[in-house]
Amino acid sequence: MALPVEEWRLCVARRWAALEPALRERLAAASLHDTLRLGCGLLRPEAEAAALRRLCRRARADKEPAAARFYREEGNRLFGRRHYGAAAKLYSQAASHELPGSPEVSVCFANRSAALFHLGHFEVCLEDIARAESHGYPDRLLPKVLLRKAECLLCLGRLQDAADSLGVAENKMAMDGIVTSPTHQTLLKKLSQLKSKIREKESCPEPAREACGDIQRKSEIWEENDSISGASSSLSLNFDRERGRHLVASQDILPGQSLLKEEAFVSVLCPGESHLLQDSSETAWDTRVTNADLYCHCCLRQLLASVPCRGCSYAKYCSQNCADVAWEQYHRTECSLGALLLTLGVFCHVALRTVLLAGFAEVSRLVEWSHDGDKDLHNPEARCKHLSEALDTRAGTRGIPGCNDDGQYQSSYQAVFNLLPHAEKHSPEHKFLCMLSVVAICKQLQEAGLEATVLNQESSEKCEKTSGELSPELKTMAEAMLRHVLQLQCNAQAITVMQESGSGDGAVVNKKPVRLATAFFPVLSLLNHSCCPNISVSFSGTAATVRASQPIPSGQEIFHCYGPHRCRMGVAERQQLLSQYFFECRCQACLDELESGVKSVVSVRNSFCCPSCRAPMQGEDVLCCSNEACAISVSRESLSHRLRDLQQQMKTALELLRAREADQAIKMLLKCQMDAGNFLSPEHLLMGEMEDHLAQVYATLGKWQEAARHLERSIEIVKMHHGPSSIETGHELFKLAQILFNGFAVSEALSTIQRAEEILSVHCGPQSTQIQELEEMKTCLSELPRSILQRT
Ligand SMILES: [Zn+2]
Ligand SMILES: [Zn+2]
Ligand SMILES: [Zn+2]
Ligand SMILES: [Zn+2]
Repeated sequence: MALPVEEWRLCVARRWAALEPALRERLAAASLHDTLRLGCGLLRPEAEAAALRRLCRRARADKEPAAARFYREEGNRLFGRRHYGAAAKLYSQAASHELPGSPEVSVCFANRSAALFHLGHFEVCLEDIARAESHGYPDRLLPKVLLRKAECLLCLGRLQDAADSLGVAENKMAMDGIVTSPTHQTLLKKLSQLKSKIREKESCPEPAREACGDIQRKSEIWEENDSISGASSSLSLNFDRERGRHLVASQDILPGQSLLKEEAFVSVLCPGESHLLQDSSETAWDTRVTNADLYCHCCLRQLLASVPCRGCSYAKYCSQNCADVAWEQYHRTECSLGALLLTLGVFCHVALRTVLLAGFAEVSRLVEWSHDGDKDLHNPEARCKHLSEALDTRAGTRGIPGCNDDGQYQSSYQAVFNLLPHAEKHSPEHKFLCMLSVVAICKQLQEAGLEATVLNQESSEKCEKTSGELSPELKTMAEAMLRHVLQLQCNAQAITVMQESGSGDGAVVNKKPVRLATAFFPVLSLLNHSCCPNISVSFSGTAATVRASQPIPSGQEIFHCYGPHRCRMGVAERQQLLSQYFFECRCQACLDELESGVKSVVSVRNSFCCPSCRAPMQGEDVLCCSNEACAISVSRESLSHRLRDLQQQMKTALELLRAREADQAIKMLLKCQMDAGNFLSPEHLLMGEMEDHLAQVYATLGKWQEAARHLERSIEIVKMHHGPSSIETGHELFKLAQILFNGFAVSEALSTIQRAEEILSVHCGPQSTQIQELEEMKTCLSELPRSILQRT
């Protein structure tokens, strides 16, 4: 999803292949500025632009009344079946297709408020009722909603407000005259019920709730760096030819210590797959929810009741405030381009939003400045040499790219602009694809009459709508955007969240990390990669926090893992993946595996064992038993085949679990275990996965002891692969704590909570949601009556 859809990539590839060889050569060698100057006219209106327009029809981003109707009816159907969570999501979809201020959209909000009420989300329910009222909810339907409001307030213990709301409802109903319709009767009955409930509560007020928990957390020690915004004072910014810019510990650092807190300069939510229909089945509306429906497009907070954009069906927000902020900063430009941006992929979208946030003045200042350095850019070697010499003499951070005149490195557009685009290392075809995509965006901005908005000009000096050449100003914006798309290949930072996987209605929540958005973090980008990093990154909304995951002695470089971790793949696979960043990793793990012939963790653990005597198997294409007395040999091909079969069966078992066929799922998983034991080493990651799945099935059956037993075995294997204090082990311990908690195994639960907290607080900090959930479990366990405690 980062890159444009495949059809557009192929279309551009054909265009590239058909260009004059001389032109291709010139484009290949051109600077960003010249690439744009040469390539601007190569997007032909009747050919490439038309093809792109056709592709955009598959992306759904406009408001469509038919879709609204469909989603509302689906929502009503599920509401009738008491599937309130799913109904609320469908009402949100319906609302996103309605016009603001229309009675239709107010009905969507009112319906959603009913679903939220049943789900016990009273505060959000009240917000939706207020929304329904402000969008012109039909007068005759108002009493019902007012009664819901009163009930909500009652549940929240706001008795006076509840009584007031009830009064309004009563007046309203009286004004409407005596209606003897059955609905009116039901409402009257409800009204009197609520009245007596309020009286009841008033006569015996509930004891005031104790202030929730005494979790007075000590605030984390934090001293900010003088020259790097958002960084701790225990880091320093260095530069040399080999490593470029990098951060180094300037004093000894302890595990769990926060090193960096940075707000993304820009972030764009990654859409789900279903936003692009694969075929042209125009009538089928998709009821699957994706990230785009679950998170605020501005602040990335999880959504319960989204506020739709006024113009499109795609952008959704957690609040009117986020909707207004996004509109002001970038969405008024992006809104009508929804389908195009979905088609061209997240990188292009991030590039556009980056220049919109920076503003034309700043973009054009830095683009001009970059032209002065273009000669140097063509010779990066010389540039680096030049730089390191300058730094030696000045002994400061002043000459480091991205730093301002005072030698400060800040999360600013200047810092983003100075991230390396590696223009000379990308393939010419790729550069051509990025260039045509960016030009397509700018052409559409011009055609949609948005140029003045983009350039922050008064719209009175209206630019003429021309379908031809881009204006010089838009060309400048396009050049910056091209730079950003190229930078993203090496500098895009994924914002991830732990998301519930599977059905989600089991007592034990199975969470896994999911990519939520793509962002620029200019300070975080200073960290180089290692396959054995010494930090962990966690996210909250659009903010990243970096913590030391192990002791880091003074003088050691701080390393981030860009993805390929030594615990997850062997050196060949890692180097392959890292080639997109244009460097060869020389971290300790890679050196060990490449030069000293140390076997990778993965290949040792994920190995095969002899089907006959269970001793480890050795060799490449043909594997032989390491036990000389045995002498069995098997082809790798046939073992891999068995492995694939096994994975297929495990998938089937998971499907059975989802279909609530727990007994069948257990049978299947036990059979898988038997098979696996015959040819996989006991430490194989799949062995752990099977134990984990078994634990899940037993948990859905409420068989907590069995579940805990299986999960403990899975944890042993996760520990071997990722290390006993890794975040992976922390997540597994969190699950175990939930299982023990549910099974009232109090002392075991408490000790597991302790271990999980120790590990997770190092990686995610003491304020993370997981730690808070663990604390709640602890409080709950300590408040259990003694009778239950003694039983265990
Ligand atoms: Zn928000
Ligand atoms: Zn919009
Ligand atoms: Zn490495
Ligand atoms: Zn053997």
